[in-house]
Amino acid sequence: MLDAFTHETLTAYFSMEMALLNDIPTYSGGLGILAGDTMRSAADLELPMVAVTLASRSGYFKQTIDNGGQQVEQSVSWDPADWAVPLNAKVAVDIEGHPVWICGWLYILKGHVNGQQPIILLDTDLDENNEDDRKITHHLYGDGTNYRLKQEIVLGIGGVRLLQALGFTIARYHMNEGHSALLVLELLRRYAYQPEEVRAGESPYDIPLVRELCCFTTHTPIEAGHDRFGYDLVQQILGEFIDLASLKHFAGGNDLNMTYLALNASEYVNGVAIRHAETSRKMFPGYHVHAITNGVHPFTWTADSFISLYDKHLPGWCHEPDLLVRVEHNISDDAIWDAHSLAKSALIDRVKSLCDKTFSPDLPILGFARRMTAYKRPDLLFADLEKLKEIASKYPFQIVLAGKAHPKDREGKQLIQTLHSHIHDLADVIPIAFLPDYDMELASKLVSGSDVWLNTPLPPMEASGTSGMKAAFNGVPSLSVLDGWWVEGCIEGVTGWSVDEESGSVGNNDVENLYAKLKQVVLPLYYEDRTGWIKVMKGAISINASFFNSHRMMRRYATEAYLR
Ligand SMILES: *Cc1c(COP(=O)(O)O)cnc(C)c1O
Repeated sequence: MLDAFTHETLTAYFSMEMALLNDIPTYSGGLGILAGDTMRSAADLELPMVAVTLASRSGYFKQTIDNGGQQVEQSVSWDPADWAVPLNAKVAVDIEGHPVWICGWLYILKGHVNGQQPIILLDTDLDENNEDDRKITHHLYGDGTNYRLKQEIVLGIGGVRLLQALGFTIARYHMNEGHSALLVLELLRRYAYQPEEVRAGESPYDIPLVRELCCFTTHTPIEAGHDRFGYDLVQQILGEFIDLASLKHFAGGNDLNMTYLALNASEYVNGVAIRHAETSRKMFPGYHVHAITNGVHPFTWTADSFISLYDKHLPGWCHEPDLLVRVEHNISDDAIWDAHSLAKSALIDRVKSLCDKTFSPDLPILGFARRMTAYKRPDLLFADLEKLKEIASKYPFQIVLAGKAHPKDREGKQLIQTLHSHIHDLADVIPIAFLPDYDMELASKLVSGSDVWLNTPLPPMEASGTSGMKAAFNGVPSLSVLDGWWVEGCIEGVTGWSVDEESGSVGNNDVENLYAKLKQVVLPLYYEDRTGWIKVMKGAISINASFFNSHRMMRRYATEAYLR
């Protein structure tokens, strides 16, 4: 089974979460979607890669909303045996002084036309392990620092060992975010000098070799977002895996910072958008942080109606999304509008079936869906209900919302409740629907069926953001704060619109600017100049979808990070 993959030298892509299919709940949000799109493009492009992630049998969670607007979390689970095949190798890693056994499942991700990628799902749910250890790979982002550290040991150290046991030859280890950075420690140990070779004052490890092997993509533009573990805890759970002086040299003097571990051990480091790379350079002075702006997988995120259209007029677009630059000339306005109308009516049907609300195909739909957390500011649009009503009285519109809050994120859960109270307050004036259980499938309905895709994060917190890129594939322009990818993607009035930044007052005037842009520019264009509107839809496709796709992203990773 594995022979098809082990005969050549590969890049190993490590990610804590990975969105493989809607039915496999091994992801929570943007990071997992990106990891999935990374491997989907790798498959399409037939890149020599293997991915490593956790089986997360108990997934993330399924969201329902109760009558009070509160998020209710229901557990989900999946059985790797339904989708993947068990691999006949096991490795052990010592955790808390005893071996924990790890096995792997092989999920084969098929490319859109050709190509396939092996995905290894790590699993500790084995008879050899005690009750607690069997659960290490169950809950994605489960409770507690101890649990998280054990998961990261399994992912990083266990992952590298299992790849070796399975016969893979790995030329690059790509860490997608810091969660997998403990793989560095395993590599240091593997490439340690013999004691007699070590000269006084020099490292006992072949650091240049390890740095050559590693690349790291950082995703978190704020310090507090980086995983860190106290050295006491590391000692207790992992023991003295490498000598403490070397560990501190790589991972920081005060505590084990996974980002610093990855940064210090990687010859190639990048952020996920140009703005994010700039932010990262300020956060980590002295490190050379490249920028490879994220992208989304063309076939996965394009609605059926647009797939047919592109297939007909731009054959080959799925492999070479750059062809979409020709949309302007090759596809008529009517055809674009018809394809959009089909996607919109599918969303309207979904609103009806999930929320029993009737949306009109004639009024514009503003879409907002993302992880519900404070910095994404899902409540910004509702900051002044009277003003919002006033806008709606002149230019009626509808709103669809969706998003999960992490079970421990009290503020995020509060935001969901606040949104529901606004829905209630505005019930007679603005049709608003909060669609429960935001997942890949719902996301594709939302990004294709909305008329405008809204994004209002607090800069510089949005490292990239990808849902607006998905919208672009469906001719849906973004109205967004200038942060993350939108700094690159926004050409005012051509690909969408910005919520203008007032110099020196980031975030302060966003509400007024958002309302002004809606009232003076976006909604009038929708109502008063349909041709002008479709021109922006085409701009989103030809300028943004042709560029912000994971095929371009992977061609860059391949040539710049992997083929060094
Ligand atoms: C695309 C996607 C995300 C990430 O979107 P952002 O714009 O980065 O917030 C999160 N969750 C799901 C289900 C998605 O499809």
